[in-house]
Amino acid sequence: MARRKAADTSATEKLAPAAASAGDRLQAAGPHDRLSDQLYGKVFEEITSGRVKVGEQLPSEVEISERFGVSRPVVREALLRLRVDGLITSHQGRGTFVSHQPAPRIKTFAKAQDIASYLRCQEVRITLEGDTARLAAERHTDEQLAAILAAHEAFSEGVHSGKLEPAADLEFHALIAEASGNEFYSSLLQSIHEAMTGLMRLTLGLTRTASKKRALTVLGEHAAIVAAIRARDGEEARIAMRFHLGQARRRLIDGRGSK
Ligand SMILES: [Zn+2]
Repeated sequence: MARRKAADTSATEKLAPAAASAGDRLQAAGPHDRLSDQLYGKVFEEITSGRVKVGEQLPSEVEISERFGVSRPVVREALLRLRVDGLITSHQGRGTFVSHQPAPRIKTFAKAQDIASYLRCQEVRITLEGDTARLAAERHTDEQLAAILAAHEAFSEGVHSGKLEPAADLEFHALIAEASGNEFYSSLLQSIHEAMTGLMRLTLGLTRTASKKRALTVLGEHAAIVAAIRARDGEEARIAMRFHLGQARRRLIDGRGSK
């Protein structure tokens, strides 16, 4: 097994030089500011910018923790996230390597550390909204269905006119939660509203600059959810919603799906 000597050295220099400068030390700005998100953001940025390339090895946990002045559990949490998001892979006994570079454009839409929290938010949405879609299919009233159809139509107009706003997507998802007939789903969704808006601004932003074809893909995913709700097919609605949110997550991370 060939040792990646050169790559090893350069990645280490970039992320963990021998002497850590004071400016690298991460500090939590408040109770909701997580050091692991900041670290995730730092590594994410290194990968997105191409400073650390696919196939290159990351420095060890110890080196990273020294460089950024954070504990090893913080490093472990950030690396776990990066692994879950498909950006790095670990090989037993060999170390951690960069396995995927997201679209460089992603950085123009969000701070890298925000991306970490958006992705966690999306994880919650997949579970939560899978259920709201199922219940909405089973329990919606005629008025609720009409409202969902109108929101879908507004979203569609946004796609075709090139004026797609996060609010249109948010409205669509909020109305489905409302149609679940359980107000707690709506308030749970409301509680992650801020992160959702950020995420939508990001994914729609990427979609807008990527291509109309991509926006139409999103619209098609929404249409599948609408069709299942309309048909009162709970299981199909759940699957369609989970697929849609899973794809949104992938669109965010995946550099290849940009065309
Ligand atoms: Zn959506």
